[in-house]
Amino acid sequence: VDHREKKPDWLRIKLTQGENYQEIKEMMRSKTLHTVCEEARCPNIYECWANRTATFMILGDICTRACRFCAVKTGLPTELDLQEPERVAEAAAQMGLRHCVITSVARDDLKDGGASIFAASVKAVREKLPLCSIEVLIPDFMGNEDSLKIVMDAKPDILNHNIETVARMSDRVRAKAKYSRSLELLSRAKAMNPDIPTKSSIMLGVGEEWDEIIQAMDDLRAVDCNIMTIGQYLQPTKQHLNVVKYYPPEDFAKLKEEGMKRGFSHVESGPFVRSSYHAHEQVQSARQN
Ligand code: SF4
Ligand code: SF4
Repeated sequence: VDHREKKPDWLRIKLTQGENYQEIKEMMRSKTLHTVCEEARCPNIYECWANRTATFMILGDICTRACRFCAVKTGLPTELDLQEPERVAEAAAQMGLRHCVITSVARDDLKDGGASIFAASVKAVREKLPLCSIEVLIPDFMGNEDSLKIVMDAKPDILNHNIETVARMSDRVRAKAKYSRSLELLSRAKAMNPDIPTKSSIMLGVGEEWDEIIQAMDDLRAVDCNIMTIGQYLQPTKQHLNVVKYYPPEDFAKLKEEGMKRGFSHVESGPFVRSSYHAHEQVQSARQN
């Protein structure tokens, strides 16, 4: 049975290009940097870049995993570029970023999973842009605690790790990742440094039930996760997981309410919400909390 649903009207928006968009794009190319904003064709790109938020994808653009919702190429990566943190920092400075998100593909081929490059990137951006808040969106490092420690010791402003979906759907949606291992990572991060807000994200529309979404919120709160983002899954190509359901904006609003009731300092919930959307505001609310 084909469960594919037609895209509803609220997902058809017209994008308007910001003024310096082309310029930034060319600068990224000249520095051979990847951004999730571009690679994932994120619908928020003009808004985010104009608001001086961007998400860099470090450690190359080939992933050792193949999650069924994700458009990133799968293969055996060869790239390990020790100068990359410096170039990320230069690009962040040129963009005048106020909030810089650093993420990566899963590098299960590297001993530390790329943790030291994450740490070096945080340090390099902080040195060039001391006022810019820095969020790392990390892979699970296969559960390696030493890798997590390396990242935490660099003191990012937000430690983000996505559970991506509800418990029951996790094995189908994510490759090699485990729901429980992701929760454990968030819990360990909190134990290592309680002052660093933690954050996680799920996407809706892959076949989860409402109660399961609420359960995922409770699971995140049980490990004292502070910030949650909830967005609509959009199928990147026909080869990827089908969209089972498009949630109307009212449902996202209800979920935000449910989340706030449960004690998150910030819940960003909406059809176009991505992990790093409005992230700058989240840092502030988490700090005030
Ligand atoms: Fe980039 Fe994230 Fe904004 Fe999308 S939501 S444009 S990935 S910073
Ligand atoms: Fe995509 Fe991350 Fe999964 Fe790799 S591990 S396929 S980058 S979601």
